[in-house]
Amino acid sequence: MSDYLDRLNSEQRAAVEALDGPLLVLAGAGTGKTRVLTTRFAHILMSGRAGPGQVLSVTFTNKAAREMQERIGGILGQPVAGLWLGTFHSLCARILRRHAALVGLESNFSILDTDDQLRLLKQLMQAAGIDIKRWQPQGLMAIIQRWKDRGLTPDRVTAAESSDFANNRAEELYEAYQARLRSLNAADFGDLLLHVTEILRRHPDVLAQYHRMFRYILVDEYQDTNLVQYLWLRLLAQSHQNICCVGDDDQSIYSWRGAEIENILRFEKDFPGARIVRLESNYRSTKQILGAASGLIAHNEGRLGKTLRSGRTEADGEKVQVLGLWDSDEEARAIGNRMEELRRDGHKLSEIAVLVRAGFQTRAFEERLITVGIPYRIVGGQRFYERSEIRDAIAYLRLIAQPSDDLAFERIVNLPRRGVGDAALRNLHMHARTHDVPLMAAAGRMIAGGLIKGKVRESLNALLHGFDNWRELLSRDGHVVTAQTMLDESGYTEMWKTDKSPEAPGRLENLKELIRALADFESLAGFLDHVALVMENEDSTVTDRVSLMTLHGAKGLEFDTVFLPGWEEGLFPSQRSMDESGLKGLEEERRLAYVGITRARKLAIISHAANRRIYANWQSSVPSRFIEELPKEHVEQSGAARAERLQRLNAPPVFSGAFALNATRPRQSPGTWEQTARPARQDSIPVGARVFHQKFGYGTVLAVEDNRLDIAFEQSGEKRVLDTFVERA
Ligand code: ATP
Ligand code: MG
Repeated sequence: MSDYLDRLNSEQRAAVEALDGPLLVLAGAGTGKTRVLTTRFAHILMSGRAGPGQVLSVTFTNKAAREMQERIGGILGQPVAGLWLGTFHSLCARILRRHAALVGLESNFSILDTDDQLRLLKQLMQAAGIDIKRWQPQGLMAIIQRWKDRGLTPDRVTAAESSDFANNRAEELYEAYQARLRSLNAADFGDLLLHVTEILRRHPDVLAQYHRMFRYILVDEYQDTNLVQYLWLRLLAQSHQNICCVGDDDQSIYSWRGAEIENILRFEKDFPGARIVRLESNYRSTKQILGAASGLIAHNEGRLGKTLRSGRTEADGEKVQVLGLWDSDEEARAIGNRMEELRRDGHKLSEIAVLVRAGFQTRAFEERLITVGIPYRIVGGQRFYERSEIRDAIAYLRLIAQPSDDLAFERIVNLPRRGVGDAALRNLHMHARTHDVPLMAAAGRMIAGGLIKGKVRESLNALLHGFDNWRELLSRDGHVVTAQTMLDESGYTEMWKTDKSPEAPGRLENLKELIRALADFESLAGFLDHVALVMENEDSTVTDRVSLMTLHGAKGLEFDTVFLPGWEEGLFPSQRSMDESGLKGLEEERRLAYVGITRARKLAIISHAANRRIYANWQSSVPSRFIEELPKEHVEQSGAARAERLQRLNAPPVFSGAFALNATRPRQSPGTWEQTARPARQDSIPVGARVFHQKFGYGTVLAVEDNRLDIAFEQSGEKRVLDTFVERA
């Protein structure tokens, strides 16, 4: 049974066997930090020093917790139960339920989401006579969250940490907010850690109880802990000091959520005599991948400094590939093609991942994968067209196309809030049933007949007028302009702009991406059909799938092949991070790039497109500075030369027709698909040829008429299409 120790190198083994006293493992990506933690857990149990319920283990995500539990079971040869293994939040929620009374809560307290939080804060601010147009509740929420991340209860906020929000009234509001939460028997997310830490600080008997209970503490991804998490760990480890933290300063990517890299330095100070173990052999990636990643991260200043060498014995592996592509469509197509090749060569799809900087970027790849029939999963998020803001926007679009779509009407009638509550909706339903008309028509009739009054009447009336206008706009200016106008005029975009929750910027980006998606279609009806097809295209029995996720969500994971698309200035590094945090922001982006490359075992493929669509227009983009920073000897470039050369020369088109070679492509009217076409083709496609179409997939040509082809598509039936969108298969 002790052969699990033989699967470690000598440094790892030392880190596993040094069970007593504080230990910090500081090491680069893929050096086996998580393996050390897992094995250490098993070793604690096997050596009889503690039972499964006496080890506290903290992971960064629930998924990581599940994986760790499985791996421990694997080492022990049987499943283990009753573990204290989870994220900071889940562990603290569990502890807080046991001692809720000590902070004035009952054990069945509810945990509020950000919507509830905001509503409460708004009420409190109004009650305090603060002008919420001038001082937004979202701002206050962010300040309170920051205090909570730093372990500051209202009485601990010092002058140095204070805020001038609403003329120095933030502290008073914070206190009122905490009191209100107590009276509601509720806690927000930040309270979970704050309350538990406060309990341990103030009640030595409770603390002693946990000292007896948790004989060992294990922490993964330590570089991304914030101050209150650190304080909590320090309290729990105080007596026995059997705490082992593993981390990598080069992978610290959550400073925007209050994570503090200084916690690594604090550890050495607060636990004098702590052993520091460094692991230097990387077992995950090939030498080429490692060389590229190390060369990139070397551009950061202020690193703690580490050596990283390949612990893998086979040949160097393939160089990191950098693909330069013409535009975002071509990027999605190229990646889809590479996946098909990999699949044909017998690679498992579950060993392939696409890692993006921002959630909205998955859309292009999702559509491509659906078209070519490669199953995928979105890890840590939802499929693009299932995201709630996209469903909302599509409900609006469905109502423009089809005023009798009652489901869509119900979804958006009170989004943003228009004062249409359950009672008003019931009346609408009743009227609609009695007169056998759709809900929207019922609303119109009830307004005209004076059956709806007051504010609701005004706002519903405005909504109905809005739809009349948008329908008119649709026939005049096309669906792209209409969709954009509709989102703005309905107040829907505004709703997310004023929302200061951490998800709001991502939702706004998704809405922009939706507009880009619309521009790919000839008509609104065509787009809505496409969405309906995409949504039902899900065979849940398939288990072998490609993974799509954000770089943040990929921390700690590994895959044989990793695609890293969208490496362009402004996208990655992201403009927002650089605007908000300057050089610090840039360095964090670089760490994110390092995390991305080091997820790959065998092959990392970075790509960038020379043109991206911004709304309905095209804009040229510049390759990410991170590409330039990759050491040349570990990189193989392809495609970039072409796009860059063409751009530099700004030469007359080599291809006849559709695209200009400078910044923007000519487009007569927004929203028609044709103008984004490939260059006009030179060779003609004969009847009977098997072809591939960008949107409809594979098919056989039935007839040819000038540049139009009638094609029987295997998935989507017979269609007439432009030949510029068709390639011979
Ligand atoms: P990250 O920084 O990305 O979280 P990590 O340091 O936690 O990485 P692990 O995920 O524990 O690294 O290990 C990386 C890979 O190397 C895993 O597939 C693991 O099984 C393997 N590995 C770790 N140590 C060894 C070893 N001594 N011999 C063989 N393989 C190893
Ligand atoms: Mg790890």
